[in-house]
Amino acid sequence: MRRILSIINRYDPGVFPEDLRELGVTSKPVVLSSNENPYEPSENVRRAYLEAVSSIRVYPDPEYRELKRRLSEYTGFEVENIAVGCGASELIGCIANAVIEVLDRVVIPLPSYTMYLIFSMLREASVVTPVFDGYNINAEVVAKSEPKLTFVCSPNNPTGNTVDENIVREMAENSEYLVVDEAYAEFSDKTLTHLVDDYENVIVLRSFSKFFGLAGMRVGYAIASPEIAAAIEKIRLPFAISGAAVATAIAALESVDYYREVARRIVEERERLVAKLSRFDFLQPYKSDANFVLVKVKNGIGLAERLIRKGIIVRDVTGLMGLEGEHVRITVGRREENDALLEVLKDIDV
Ligand SMILES: *Cc1c(COP(=O)(O)O)cnc(C)c1O
Repeated sequence: MRRILSIINRYDPGVFPEDLRELGVTSKPVVLSSNENPYEPSENVRRAYLEAVSSIRVYPDPEYRELKRRLSEYTGFEVENIAVGCGASELIGCIANAVIEVLDRVVIPLPSYTMYLIFSMLREASVVTPVFDGYNINAEVVAKSEPKLTFVCSPNNPTGNTVDENIVREMAENSEYLVVDEAYAEFSDKTLTHLVDDYENVIVLRSFSKFFGLAGMRVGYAIASPEIAAAIEKIRLPFAISGAAVATAIAALESVDYYREVARRIVEERERLVAKLSRFDFLQPYKSDANFVLVKVKNGIGLAERLIRKGIIVRDVTGLMGLEGEHVRITVGRREENDALLEVLKDIDV
């Protein structure tokens, strides 16, 4: 086994419903932990998935031409600017594999998504992880490390804030390659995809898992220069995305109005949830541009654990690199799910 594996921590997916029986919880849980879309797929997506059964015998198009054509329409970029993968997660790995040589400097502003660190360490990069309170990145600090590759996430998981465009531009100018992870962009009113037109070294990542509610289907894409897109396409798995997943992704793009309405509802609920959470003395919610809210919790009360025993799963991000003190990340659910959480919180004494 490679020695590096002994110091890489496995990605921590948090508590899943499947874990609950072992914890003695038997009721159906309210799951607010993985930033999944709480609404049903559109009818169009449901139909596409059922119809896809007739082609599960065969491999999908290895070039994913139809999906890329639809993504080209959706994003306004040329097909040559688009690479697809088995979730944005696979694309993070592809980019690390395409770009990083042993001991290349990779800068990962924290607190952020842990997959950047895992894939960079696997490449034996020299990883620099400056911590920025509230993910308020100082681009000069990043530039000082002279990065080969920088990973920035906007809106950021777990803090929820978007990164100012000028700061991202400064990083693009001072890093050989810059990944901008926009897995949650459609919940904010901002995107930085246009930076791909201005900078040949910028790669924007997108996912079907959150806004389009297809976390179980595993589809993501990258927007970048034709050279970078071709490099990613070269090293991803040949049939990384299943035919059924492709069919649902295309159907989801056709249903974009439905998903925009769903996102509008989620954003409305997010604002209501933040307002209600801030009324609890022991909670301090962050402002969010995504479909989740980071909440600082009065230290040492073990909130996530106490909520789980009441059948509510939130993500315990206490101890996440770059976060000081107790925190939970709460996915914005449907109104009744958020109300269930708020009810349970009323009974928590600290
Ligand atoms: C959820 C998430 C992803 C995407 O995940 P996939 O399901 O692999 O597309 C990427 N980046 C961040 C920051 C995420 O939170």
